[in-house]
Amino acid sequence: MSEFDLIAKYFTRPAPSAQLGVGDDAALLSVSPGMELAVSSDMLVAGTHFFPDADPFLLGWKTLAVNLSDLAAMGAQPRWATLALSLPAVDEPWLQRFSAGFFALAGEYGVALVGGDTTRGPLNLCVTILGEVPPGQALRRDGAQAGDDIWVSGTPGHAALGLAHLQGEVTLAGGLREVCLAALHQPQPRVTLGLALRGLAHSAIDVSDGLLADLGHILECSGVGAELEWALLPQLPEGIAPDMARHCLLAGGDDYELCFTAPEARRAEIEALASRLGLALTRIGRIVQGTACIVLDAAGNAVPVVESGYDHFAAAARL
Ligand code: ADP
Ligand code: MG
Repeated sequence: MSEFDLIAKYFTRPAPSAQLGVGDDAALLSVSPGMELAVSSDMLVAGTHFFPDADPFLLGWKTLAVNLSDLAAMGAQPRWATLALSLPAVDEPWLQRFSAGFFALAGEYGVALVGGDTTRGPLNLCVTILGEVPPGQALRRDGAQAGDDIWVSGTPGHAALGLAHLQGEVTLAGGLREVCLAALHQPQPRVTLGLALRGLAHSAIDVSDGLLADLGHILECSGVGAELEWALLPQLPEGIAPDMARHCLLAGGDDYELCFTAPEARRAEIEALASRLGLALTRIGRIVQGTACIVLDAAGNAVPVVESGYDHFAAAARL
């Protein structure tokens, strides 16, 4: 099978939202009048972000999901994507499942694949995602203000617990194992939440490298500090060793939940949004003046936290 047959068979689908999609030297796109274009790229590398024998359907899903998550964190409406692939060989069953997973999620959010690049090489998957946001309404990292509540969606820590299970560091069973492995392999980008937070949140980020590390980016960009309350954090189920639970919750990556800040006066609206979306939104602390991020226990004492998030150049391979 030639490179062009491969692109035609697995990566060419109708793209009615593009003036011109896959097949020419460049795609042609019309941004809706008056909108800003939000652009982001995320790459997944075999051996660093996923096991080389990962289920290709789930890999296709996750390749797009991590990119949708970035647009969710900006409050942008996803519209188009490009996909740059490097593949060790043409493996048609693999390509079939990979593209099925990619297009399954693309279909959920109306995202059109409009181009890309395909080469031979170590397995490497890179998406560039494009979306739209009204000028001035994007959820940025630099908007947090002292006095804001800090919120997180879903249950951060599940994906890290799933990874710990696969690495033999914990043994999960039953429903919890299913939930944690699904969080790791098939994350649900919080696009709808991000759109609903326009005009409500002061700042937002998606939790890809760990809750404290990602919140830390908001703090740094906004020039503020934070006080989190351990008792408010969405706890992992009993039976997980406390050190492991703390690690997964505060420093575990790959959850793709949103962490955001909003004025105290908007609490009721955020709670109503949680029930409308059927998604847990938990208030976990507040933004304060200064630069420190501390986690307080029930007695108001600081919980010692030494962990930071994942940094590709500060550690050895991820898996
Ligand atoms: P060029 O030689 O001009 O770079 P290519 O041969 O790489 O063009 O690609 C041909 C067409 O197929 C282009 O429109 C490109 O955007 C698209 N394309 C290539 N690889 C992919 C892919 N993995 N997914 C979607 N579109 C792709
Ligand atoms: Mg090319």
